[in-house]
Amino acid sequence: MRILLVEDEPQIADFVSRGLDENGYSVDVARDGEEALEWPSVANFDIIVLDVMLPAVDGIEVCRTFRAQGLRTPILMLTARDAVEDRVRGLDSGADDYLVKPFAFAELLARIRALSRREPALLGTELQVGDLVMDTATRQVTRAGVPVELTSKEFALLEHLMRHPNQVLSRTVIAEHVWNYDFDNVTNVIDVHVKNLRKKIDEGFDPKLIHTVRGAGYRLSDRKPG
Ligand code: CA
Repeated sequence: MRILLVEDEPQIADFVSRGLDENGYSVDVARDGEEALEWPSVANFDIIVLDVMLPAVDGIEVCRTFRAQGLRTPILMLTARDAVEDRVRGLDSGADDYLVKPFAFAELLARIRALSRREPALLGTELQVGDLVMDTATRQVTRAGVPVELTSKEFALLEHLMRHPNQVLSRTVIAEHVWNYDFDNVTNVIDVHVKNLRKKIDEGFDPKLIHTVRGAGYRLSDRKPG
C-alpha cells in the first residue's frame, strides 16, 4: 500500500515515515500543503495521512481541494490535542477519520488498516484467495493452514496482490504501490521478490496462486488462467 504523508515537522515526518516503511508501506512525504496538492497528479495513493497544521496552505484547505478535484482516496487527518474545531472542520472538509497528536504509532497503523478495509475483498482484517489467508492486523499469513514467514516487502507485495485478486498487475502498478518511484532497476527487484514469494506460498501447494502473465505482469488467482 502506498501512503502520502503530509507533515511539515521533520522529526514527526521522519518518525512516521520510517515506522510505516518498517510495516511494509510505501511512503512519500510532502513537507507542506502546496507540495501535497501536486502529488495526486503524479502518483496514486491508497491512503493520505494529512496534518492539519501546515504552513501556507493548511490541511483543511488541502483536503477540501482534493475532494473538489474528485480525489476519493481515504484521508486520515492529524489534529492537535483538544482542537475540537479542527476535527469538525477536518471531517467537514472531506477527511474520513482523524487522529489526535500525540498518538501511539499502533493506533495510527490501526486507523490506516480501518480505512483500507473499505476495499471489497477485505472482511475485517482478513484477506483470502483460495486457501491463502492474510491477517493484515496480526501480519500472519497461512497457506492451507500452514504459517508462512514473509519479509516486510514480501508481505506488502502479497497484500497488494491479494487486494486485487484475478487482476493482472503490471510491474509499473506494483512499483507504484509497493515501492517508491525513485528506485533503480525496480522491475528486477519486483521479479526477485515475486520469485521468493512464490517459493514461500506456492512451492509444495496446489493450485499455484501466482501467475506470470507474459509481457503484462503478475496475477494472483486460484482459478485457471483463461
Ligand atoms: Ca504540522
